[in-house]
Amino acid sequence: MATQYAANRLSAVLPSASAGVSQLAGELRAAGRDIIDLGLGEPDFDTPAHIIEAAHRAALAGQTRYPPTDGSGELKEAVAQKLKRDNALEYAHNEIIVGNGAKQVIFDAVMATLEPGQEVLLCAPHFDSYRNIVLVLGGVPKVIPCPAENGFRLQPADLEAAITPNTRWLFMNSPSNPAGATYSADQLRELGEVIQRHPQLLVLSDEIYEHIIFDKQKHQSLVEACPQLRDQTICVNGVSKAYAMTGWRIGYGAAPQPLIAAMTKVQSQISSGACSIAQAAAAAALNGPQDDVARFSAAFERRRDLVVERVKHIPSLTLDPPGGAFYALLGCSELLNRKTADGTVIADDVALTRYLLEDAGVAAVAGSVYGLAPFVRLSTAASEDTLSSALDRIAQSVAKLND
Ligand code: PMP
Repeated sequence: MATQYAANRLSAVLPSASAGVSQLAGELRAAGRDIIDLGLGEPDFDTPAHIIEAAHRAALAGQTRYPPTDGSGELKEAVAQKLKRDNALEYAHNEIIVGNGAKQVIFDAVMATLEPGQEVLLCAPHFDSYRNIVLVLGGVPKVIPCPAENGFRLQPADLEAAITPNTRWLFMNSPSNPAGATYSADQLRELGEVIQRHPQLLVLSDEIYEHIIFDKQKHQSLVEACPQLRDQTICVNGVSKAYAMTGWRIGYGAAPQPLIAAMTKVQSQISSGACSIAQAAAAAALNGPQDDVARFSAAFERRRDLVVERVKHIPSLTLDPPGGAFYALLGCSELLNRKTADGTVIADDVALTRYLLEDAGVAAVAGSVYGLAPFVRLSTAASEDTLSSALDRIAQSVAKLND
């Protein structure tokens, strides 16, 4: 019998979809193809210099030893101040945890709380890691479709209908990846009324795109809009997106102390905390001038405008203008069942993204990865010229499809 390596529990778990697309794009590029990679979700800006200098200073000052498992005092204070400043929230140091990216904070939270077989509610389209983290930890992801006609937002009645005695978590994300959906305070309050009726339910509010928000909206943190949910909620955030710091791997969570304590236990056996030097950099990001954050967000808004305008002129593709984050989720239902020049049928959005990669040389991710189909997700974290060329190429390839 052949040696088996992976545990059964991994059988339904998928590797990160966007990383997979980018790897394929890289391989095609290495083979000489001209590929525009709009797969991966990370800002294309450099980390601001004052943040890098803070890391350098920290390393030279000897901050090179094991940090506290749950985060350095300096960074926790910076997070506490940030939550007060931006979200009018008060969290003590023992109600804050720092991890290796928001992703680890999410993993910690689920691992610390979920019994095997318990359900986690996901609002589709949702960040693909949510589903895979739940699966790897023996939970049951339960998808609530949040279609375009609802603004890709969770509706209170759909939430109420999805909750059972076996539901442990609801995951929320605003602004959202991949649809760019945002929630107003009133919309959050309506959901809050439902959540409040189910005190056994925990809520993970992923606010990592908080600062990448358009049309003069002001981001609403869930607990800010619904203070009564404080005991049920972990607010997850990080520096990856706002400060162009994806490689530094620093995220954080704010939650009631017993939940943070349970997560710290998990983290103490996984990573012993996050890199001390990156924590110093993240503290400098949160405490320092915020001009770059506004500059990045303004650039993402211009790109959003460009993509929305261009997609209007591509027959058969639709785009509901995203209110935040840096993705464009293109609706492509009209293209299904059309044929490529060699007769291949575009059966679903996975086939369409494959075609776009091969024919247009544009790497994108299929919406089905995010639990709602058929869509194609383009990352708008690329220059306006790059986005413009990508859309030219997509328009040409789409025009070649036959009925
Ligand atoms: N949440 C969402 C919604 C994301 O899109 C991402 C990154 N793609 C993360 C969390 C992970 O962020 P980090 O780099 O801090 O782990």
